[in-house]
Amino acid sequence: MSTQPNLYDLSPDALTRLLADWGEPAYRAKQIYRHLYVHLTSDPADMTDLSKALRERLAKETTIGNLQQIKLLTGDDGMTRKVLWNLPDGSPLETVLMIYPDRATVCVSSQSGCPMQCVFCATGKLGFLHDCTPGEIIEQVIWAERELQAFFSSLNRRSKIENRKLSNIVFMGMGEPFNNYDNWWTSVERLHDPNGYNMGARNFTVSTVGLVPGILRLAEEELPINLAISLHAADDDLRSDMMPVNRRYPIADLVEATRTYTEKTRRRVSFEYVLLKEKNDFPEQALRLAQLLRSEGKPPLLCHVNLIPWNPVPGAPLNRSDRKRVLNFQAVLKEHGVPCTVRVERGVDIAAACGQLAGR
Ligand code: SF4
Repeated sequence: MSTQPNLYDLSPDALTRLLADWGEPAYRAKQIYRHLYVHLTSDPADMTDLSKALRERLAKETTIGNLQQIKLLTGDDGMTRKVLWNLPDGSPLETVLMIYPDRATVCVSSQSGCPMQCVFCATGKLGFLHDCTPGEIIEQVIWAERELQAFFSSLNRRSKIENRKLSNIVFMGMGEPFNNYDNWWTSVERLHDPNGYNMGARNFTVSTVGLVPGILRLAEEELPINLAISLHAADDDLRSDMMPVNRRYPIADLVEATRTYTEKTRRRVSFEYVLLKEKNDFPEQALRLAQLLRSEGKPPLLCHVNLIPWNPVPGAPLNRSDRKRVLNFQAVLKEHGVPCTVRVERGVDIAAACGQLAGR
């Protein structure tokens, strides 16, 4: 395992301190920072505005990234790309880039494996393996940005994607971001930094299994990023069966925390609902969900429901809802005034879709 500092783990101040220890002026740190986050330079030898001695020292005493690429799979005619990485301790990690005609999204992992054990999810079956450092989270975005730029160069035609840059960063890959809150939030702030990668706050979305302390903490943050909450059932018994975290943070507590969040931030929350045939996709369950989100005597929750037909996971004794059941479920929600969409699927053929990431 490398003991050299990963430059993507260093804040601008920490980078300045490292360079000062080496007897270099502060502006050198700024040059290196721009190489990392603006020019996406992957090799110190290409930082040609630095002295040769400094480039050699960087190459010898630091690394630009911890992740070792093991495999790259492409699906959806090259528009979905999943990369499997090895972390320095040997744990697997996955990142998925999805390219659309008008935008590009990267789905990033915050942990290798996941301690939350949701029954429908391949990552949960791995158990918890590793908390990503800020740099390991950032590197996944930088990889996607490089991959996207290479894709456009190969096309030789114009694109509607503004600046041909990633449009969205979603933390919906392996792991529960709020379980690794400090490292995850450091990566968000760094990627947002206008002197560096400069991703707009509203282009980030974090998805949580429903960790109430994390939701309340996010409500206090200054950057207005988007929040998605995995709900998947509107009654505690079923939700606890599907998601053990519900025993710690039952639905009433989760809805209360969501209300606090929306009242504080005035931002709409997305509830994710994976549809499993004859488990949580009956019209009565849609009605119960609508009642939960439109609780009597209180203003309706500022929210939207995202229905996700379940993607197959080997060994899981579950079935995917068919189209008719999905549309029926959606119709009940809409009838009761709950805004609702069905997620467009990507990457199912390369096991890159929601809940399929298993480090294989
Ligand atoms: S769905 Fe998310 S929180 Fe649940 S086990 Fe999978 S990765 Fe973890």
